[in-house]
Amino acid sequence: MVILVASNNPKKLAELERILADAGIEGVELRPLSAVEPYPEPVEDGRTFADNALIKARAGAAATGFATVADDSGLAIEELNGMPGVLSARWSGQHGNDQANNDLVLAQMADVPDERRAAAFVSVCALVTPDGAEHVAEGRWEGRFLREPRGDNGFGYDPLFQPEGESRSAAEMAPEEKNAVSHRGRALSQLVPAIAELVRSS
Ligand code: IMP
Repeated sequence: MVILVASNNPKKLAELERILADAGIEGVELRPLSAVEPYPEPVEDGRTFADNALIKARAGAAATGFATVADDSGLAIEELNGMPGVLSARWSGQHGNDQANNDLVLAQMADVPDERRAAAFVSVCALVTPDGAEHVAEGRWEGRFLREPRGDNGFGYDPLFQPEGESRSAAEMAPEEKNAVSHRGRALSQLVPAIAELVRSS
């Protein structure tokens, strides 16, 4: 059976592929957005990660007739009431400008003492089937927000995030090492039972 992975990032498809293989699930063809008839990208105007993940997964299932997985993720800083949150990619007003986003959060957090710098990367993954069944799973990667960037790997807020129990920033970890413990993998793993059930009933 086909499952559409409604993301423009091929790494997300590869990560789900690996998780399904590890779980011993066979008979699923994960299809990227680039391999289906183009459809209008929905506006991600939800107030929560779950809202946005569902908006993307519902749009994919409705447009293609395939069960669809989509995710939404970001950095939630306790001291900022969970922000940048769903606005993580465009916190500075410029979508995808990692440098500007990081600089702005650093400035906002400048006077916040060490004991109040708790943060978590959060990923919510949604699976929506064409008959309207919906599954939502959340993965969290707890840590703290650093005072200056460290490391060159990864993307986004990785240089400013120190995972719990780590002396390194997320950008100082090898990519495979980060994938094995990060928020996205944790959320995707929780969808495995629902995907297994879909395969059984297909
Ligand atoms: P998306 O939902 O995957 O597009 O991610 C939204 C934004 O959240 C990204 O542009 C990053 O700013 C931030 N983000 C999500 N996951 C990560 C991560 O693993 N490392 C660093 N930043 C992340």
